[in-house]
Amino acid sequence: MRIQDKKPLSLARTRGATCPFVSPHENPRSQRAPIGTLGPMAGKITAPRGTRDLLPEEGAAWTRIEGIARALSDRYAFDRVDIPLFERVELFARGLGESSDAVEKEMFRVSGAAGSEEARAEWALRPEPTAGIVRAYIEHGLHVRPGPLRLWMLGPMFRYDRPQAGRYRQFTQWDVEVLGDPGPMVDAELIELAHRFFAEAGVTGAVAYLNSIGDATCRPGYRQALIDYFGQHADRLSDDSRRRLEINPLRVLDDRQLDPELAAGAPRSVDHLCDACRDHFASVLALLDGLGLRYEVDPTIVRGLDYYTRTTFEFFVADRRGQQQALAGGGRYDGLAEVLGGRPTPGIGFGLGIDRSVLAAQEQGVEAAPSGALVAVVSADPAALEPRLRVATQLRAAGLRVRPDGSDRKLGRQLESAAKVGARWAVIIGEELERGRVVLRDLASGEQQEAPLDRVPAVIGATWGSLPLQDLAQ
Ligand code: AMP
Repeated sequence: MRIQDKKPLSLARTRGATCPFVSPHENPRSQRAPIGTLGPMAGKITAPRGTRDLLPEEGAAWTRIEGIARALSDRYAFDRVDIPLFERVELFARGLGESSDAVEKEMFRVSGAAGSEEARAEWALRPEPTAGIVRAYIEHGLHVRPGPLRLWMLGPMFRYDRPQAGRYRQFTQWDVEVLGDPGPMVDAELIELAHRFFAEAGVTGAVAYLNSIGDATCRPGYRQALIDYFGQHADRLSDDSRRRLEINPLRVLDDRQLDPELAAGAPRSVDHLCDACRDHFASVLALLDGLGLRYEVDPTIVRGLDYYTRTTFEFFVADRRGQQQALAGGGRYDGLAEVLGGRPTPGIGFGLGIDRSVLAAQEQGVEAAPSGALVAVVSADPAALEPRLRVATQLRAAGLRVRPDGSDRKLGRQLESAAKVGARWAVIIGEELERGRVVLRDLASGEQQEAPLDRVPAVIGATWGSLPLQDLAQ
């Protein structure tokens, strides 16, 4: 069905949260006192609840994890895409389903400027990337490109959820999507890719929990089985689940408040698959077996969004299966492009949580290695700024990590603070620079030696940590 054929969506139920962005036209306070003329702030301004500042000490761990995602995207032959941070509410309502938690409860609404019709459009910060990527695929006619298309992106997502450890209102996902490939090989390939990511990140014990939730042929039968089952136990369901039972009974299985005993007795989608879906799922499992990957079939993995078909999966560390512990989640969405007004296009992808992966790696004791030994450039001559900067520039051009000291402090103080910020070496600049030489000091041992400047990068780069200083002195 194309978008035009559908009756307009009622968004009345999609309450969501109102985004704190208020246009200056709508904010009466800003008319009285434009920003910049307000006096000093009375209270401290803090980051919004559920968001976090990335602090310098966490930077290396994030860079390492994101670097693995980028490198794997490249090695697995995915092309980078990016999409706006906000899209029309209708895209998410239609793609993810109006009764999904992401749309019904967790959407950050964004209001534009007052006035034009465009500005009055309803936007939301993206809660997940797949709907936006498929929107872009349709909008730019990417189906004419030689396919299947293999796309990746990395960026923040926004959900107005109750914040707690591992669950944030702004979080970062690495996302991969394959469009135009009906599988089943690509299903197994993506699960292997996520496994590879966790292996390289040093997160041990990651397991793929997977399921098949069928397609347009067999899903209606399964839906009915769920409606019949939960209908008989309606008194044990939460208000949300009772309301959603008729709209999307699969979502009842996703309800955090669902009684585990009731969940255990619920009909399983794998028992209601049509022949084509059963064959597809069996092939995926056989391919995973062939690769020797760790997985478990888990009938409770139904995913919370309407667009999923057939294979669905989530990754957890084996003994940590709490609500905030999923490291990645994804699945096949063969009907999504059509729902968004495109031609039928099979699709599959996953979103992998960078925040939780960084946490998991840290919890398992993985240290983020610095990208190289830090070198400080210092001088006893307070006027020697130009040589400090020139030498720092030269050493960086040769590939070293360099931090020049531009202060007029005494040499000893400069060396002390270089050691405090983690420098391993100091290049001390003095008169000998006129002869192309500097003093190289090992800040750990205090040993130092005069050496030709152009020898410094090779020795530091090659040895970093165990420099035989006498090798320099030619
Ligand atoms: P989902 O589409 O909800 O399965 O999200 C995919 C992955 O993103 C999850 O497996 C988590 O690793 C991560 N994620 C989802 N929601 C949050 C959140 N609120 N805070 C941190 N990470 C999240």
